Amino acid sequence: MTDRERRALLAWYRKHRRDLPWRRTRDPYAVLLAEVLLQQTQVERAIPFYRRILARFPTLAALGEAPLEALLELWQGAGYYRRAHQLHALARATGGVLPKTYAELRQLPGLGPYTAGAVASIAFGEAVPAVDGNARRVLARYYGLAAPGEAELRRLAEALVDAAAPGEWNQALIELGATRCTPKKPACAGCPLGEGCRGKRDPNRFPLPRRTRKKRLDLFALVLVGREGVVLVRREGKRFSGLYGVPMGEDLGVLLREYGLSGAAFAGEVRHGLTHLDMRVRVYWARVGADGLDASSKPLSVLDRKILKKFEEAFGETGALEADLGVASASKHADPDAKQP
Ligand code: SF4
Repeated sequence: MTDRERRALLAWYRKHRRDLPWRRTRDPYAVLLAEVLLQQTQVERAIPFYRRILARFPTLAALGEAPLEALLELWQGAGYYRRAHQLHALARATGGVLPKTYAELRQLPGLGPYTAGAVASIAFGEAVPAVDGNARRVLARYYGLAAPGEAELRRLAEALVDAAAPGEWNQALIELGATRCTPKKPACAGCPLGEGCRGKRDPNRFPLPRRTRKKRLDLFALVLVGREGVVLVRREGKRFSGLYGVPMGEDLGVLLREYGLSGAAFAGEVRHGLTHLDMRVRVYWARVGADGLDASSKPLSVLDRKILKKFEEAFGETGALEADLGVASASKHADPDAKQP
């Protein structure tokens, strides 16, 4: 890439960049929070979460002092709750103070090369690259690489970082990929890198899509309706850990026996996609003698909100239940984005 193109890209970024809340600060914690959210949440959706979390926990120290559940509550709907767990663990591990170098940031739990590079370059001005999916696409197209390896991209990106403005440079590459050099319809006419871009004649060849087949997972969910609401259990394991949800498992018979039931009514099927997983959940419901909980009183995963919504639909059709179980209030915020857990 020529110096002229590099200058053109920076100038383009300074003129055309989107005005995003995390671009108005160099507070390392705010930068980190934005990067963690943006890992798996789109920009527009991430903004309210970013604002809400910063308003409640204005510093990393404040976040570390709060219980994990308080963060999970704010994270509801953003999906991929593992990020919240890691952020909270990081707040505690650092005592609320982030180290200032890329090498030290990389030692922290859950901080990969991209996030560490973004924080180091944007907040601390260290000349290190930050290659996310957008920057990867721009580099692959510019250099005409159909299947670049991570190490190769990192080498290229390292050589390009602007020593005087590393944070802006990294964001410029990312912004170009997000708004101009997009996956399906890159706007090559007038692109600041257009002169030397080897991929512009046939950009869709660079990089070739990575093919990942999703694994299918069939599950059963049991909505148990008690006197005050529905039975909620605290989830364990890596997917929904720390959140609450209805009892769920791979074997309906085992679930029913666990709650002393001989049967349950079918409410419908819910589909939920994660990065590597296509989840299909058959939803059943039954009355039980337990009290149960107002479902809106606990942090629920998006999948559980979908399950409760499905139940609510069946409940509306049968007319068999009349109490306000908190189900409607829990599901009214249900998010149609199937990529959120
Ligand atoms: S010229 Fe086209 S393919 Fe090349 S970087 Fe610019 S937008 Fe992407």
